[in-house]
Amino acid sequence: MDYDAFEQASRLEQAAGLLRGAGHVVVFTGAGVSAESGIPTFRDTQGLWTRFPPEQFATWTGLVRTAIFRPRRLAAFVYEVLQPIAAARPNRAHRAIERLEHHTRVTVVTQNIDGLHEDAGSTVVYSVHGTLFEIVFGQRRFLRLLSRRDLQRIGNRLARLRSAWVLPLIRLLLAIRPLVGLSWRGIHRPKLVLFGDALCQPDWNLAIEAMQSCDCVLQVGCSGQVFPAALLTLVAKEHEATVIAIDLEDTAADIWLRGPAGEILPDLLEAAFDEDLEND
Ligand code: NAD
Repeated sequence: MDYDAFEQASRLEQAAGLLRGAGHVVVFTGAGVSAESGIPTFRDTQGLWTRFPPEQFATWTGLVRTAIFRPRRLAAFVYEVLQPIAAARPNRAHRAIERLEHHTRVTVVTQNIDGLHEDAGSTVVYSVHGTLFEIVFGQRRFLRLLSRRDLQRIGNRLARLRSAWVLPLIRLLLAIRPLVGLSWRGIHRPKLVLFGDALCQPDWNLAIEAMQSCDCVLQVGCSGQVFPAALLTLVAKEHEATVIAIDLEDTAADIWLRGPAGEILPDLLEAAFDEDLEND
């Protein structure tokens, strides 16, 4: 075993010991936990922000402006966000997180909008950036839930817009009507947090409470560069919790387990509780 592998193995053992002793674990997830489900992250070198700048595509005013002046470009962006989420299934990382509940109290706090923790069966999930599946109107009043199948249909309509040169704005508005539109109730849209929006409530306050009461945070696939969500781990540290990060890149944490979440999390579960994810 080379030195790096030896170091990683001893960090894994240390993290396993912490999990075994923890009465309450918060699993704090970012885009990286869903990467192995085929949903790209935004910030990485090949990420979406390199092709669709956040100033134009991550604020409601930027999106409206792009819709009016470059509808086909907006269609391409919405398609790229929607399509992988519509086709995604939970991966080994989501399943290991669900399985952790068999051994200790677990609260999942996620920045993701893809619904994969719920699909994997995690029972307590706070989505601080909202979800693509819940449609709200007015001051975030519930209107309806969409399914992955609904997203797939919207994606198919958007794909056809690529070659539509006649009335692209109208065709875009019709294509995305289940997601965003105008009706007698007002404007409806997904319950999502874009740049400059307040975080989702009550999830944000509940996430802070969880961070204040846990012994250990398992931070999975989060760069720690998305604010204010990144402040949550600081809250936990102030309350003397230990932060274990699982990520391809080094992030500020007490213990860093380097590698893909879908490999490292099942290994951690096995080291901590002798649980084999393959025995489903
Ligand atoms: P981010 O800043 O949390 O960065 C992603 C992190 O994941 C990086 O640190 C990267 O090294 C790590 N990573 C990538 N692949 C990994 C893997 N297989 N295993 C472990 N770690 C891995 O997230 P972002 O991409 O900048 O996105 C910003 C925000 O946009 C998110 O907080 C979220 O709200 C939203 N978003 C959601 C989804 C989703 O719902 N699946 C996807 C992309 C972005």
